[in-house]
Amino acid sequence: MTQQKFLTYPDLPSTADVIVIGGGPAGTAALWAIERAAPGTKTVLIEQSDRLGAGSSTASLENYRTCWPAIPMMKQMQRSVEVFHNADAYLGEGTQQSIHIKERGYLFCAFTDRQAEGLRRDVERLHSIGLAHIEYLERDEVAYRYGWLGEKVIAAKFDPIAGWLDSNALIYRYAQNAHSAQIVLGVPEVSICVKGSTLAGIKTPHGEVAAPIVVIACGANARRVCRTAGVELPLVIRPRQSVTTASRHPEFPEDGPMVIGSASHPHMRPEARTGAIFGWEYTWHNKRARELGYEVEGAPADALIEPVYPLTPFKDPRYPSLAVALLARQFGHKDGEGFAHPNYMRGVHQNIGYYVYRDHTAACKADGTGYESERALIDAVPGVEGLFASVAHVGHGIMTSPAAGEIIASKVLGLPLADAAFAAFGFDALYVEYDEAVL
Ligand SMILES: Cc1cc2nc3c(=O)[nH]c(=O)nc-3n(C[C@H](O)[C@H](O)[C@H](O)COP(=O)(O)OP(=O)(O)OC[C@H]3O[C@@H](n4cnc5c(N)ncnc54)[C@H](O)[C@@H]3O)c2cc1C
Repeated sequence: MTQQKFLTYPDLPSTADVIVIGGGPAGTAALWAIERAAPGTKTVLIEQSDRLGAGSSTASLENYRTCWPAIPMMKQMQRSVEVFHNADAYLGEGTQQSIHIKERGYLFCAFTDRQAEGLRRDVERLHSIGLAHIEYLERDEVAYRYGWLGEKVIAAKFDPIAGWLDSNALIYRYAQNAHSAQIVLGVPEVSICVKGSTLAGIKTPHGEVAAPIVVIACGANARRVCRTAGVELPLVIRPRQSVTTASRHPEFPEDGPMVIGSASHPHMRPEARTGAIFGWEYTWHNKRARELGYEVEGAPADALIEPVYPLTPFKDPRYPSLAVALLARQFGHKDGEGFAHPNYMRGVHQNIGYYVYRDHTAACKADGTGYESERALIDAVPGVEGLFASVAHVGHGIMTSPAAGEIIASKVLGLPLADAAFAAFGFDALYVEYDEAVL
């Protein structure tokens, strides 16, 4: 008899070889990669919501790109893109169609000589690490290819192996292709059971699942869940917003790229036939959380330690108009034209989710100073044998999910890492060149 894949809580299997907590990109990719590396491993995924992918990915732009200047991230993306490009082979027949990749590129724009010089140096660095496909475009070339952007762009960096995909379809493909996995939806609360310093499984209000291995992959809630095992994960979280709008300016073609302005990097891409999706990361301050009565003790001023739900109070009502106005100003578009077109304020939908980061104690420079790294934390959790985490995927947890899944699978199964550079995703991660230069 074939076992049922999706269970609804309080239906729970009594045992598992590996339990994964959290059904976002990180958790479902872990299931898929464990199955690929060790077919038949009995995995159980525990998801709080009544569906998979109910965390940050719901607010995301679903983008991916290869132009990462730090080697571990570059390798992580290289492997992930290989999986996306061969999706049917890795994730089953029909995946290519369902994840619907649109490889339209990323265009980083410069408006001043200094910014142009910065992009030229970026491209030099990217070429030096083997990313020869990244282009530096002079003013005339930008005008020839993207004249509709206007005359203010004097240079650009272009990543042609970049684009976007359907992240929800990707998450469900991971889950479906983990043939030996069972997925339990609607689990309201989960804690980790430890006997001595060894893992025993998980506990929910209506039952337990015994297992020698648990992977924490529940995004912004990871620190809270890990605390039930007596370990504090070194994470901070920040609310980040995105906006979808029903229409964009008519000159922005449907097959246009993701367009990124200069610092503070507002960005926008076409969404569906006529719409757009855009984002902009500005410095957030946790005083709003304090005003609302939430605990912010011990958190840096621009972050939280405990997630606040729902996130609605953190939605900034000025955000959609400010982000578009910033793009219009950078590109020199006058009222009614380009990014200043009134279409952008039609059918606006504002989304919000958390970016999860390693805190400054989880990466350090040669002189011992701590800093916040953009690298995810994918490793065994120190202090509890059998406990693992795939967390801190910041703003790239969808695009890097195939490789992240494979890294955690190797660690869980005690297999060698596919690439030595992947050791940089461990707890004791030292400084990596270009680690902070995410763009
Ligand atoms: C505005 C915005 C834009 C972004 N744009 C991009 C982008 O363009 N490209 C990209 O690659 N990434 C992007 N990201 C980042 C990406 O969404 C995250 O890195 C990614 O979703 C992290 O995956 P995750 O599985 O770790 O966590 P999540 O996606 O948050 O998933 C966690 C899952 O765990 C579940 N869960 C939570 N608590 C529990 C619990 N106690 N028990 C059981 N289950 C639990 C949740 O319901 C959820 O399903 C963006 C994020 C935001 C907010």
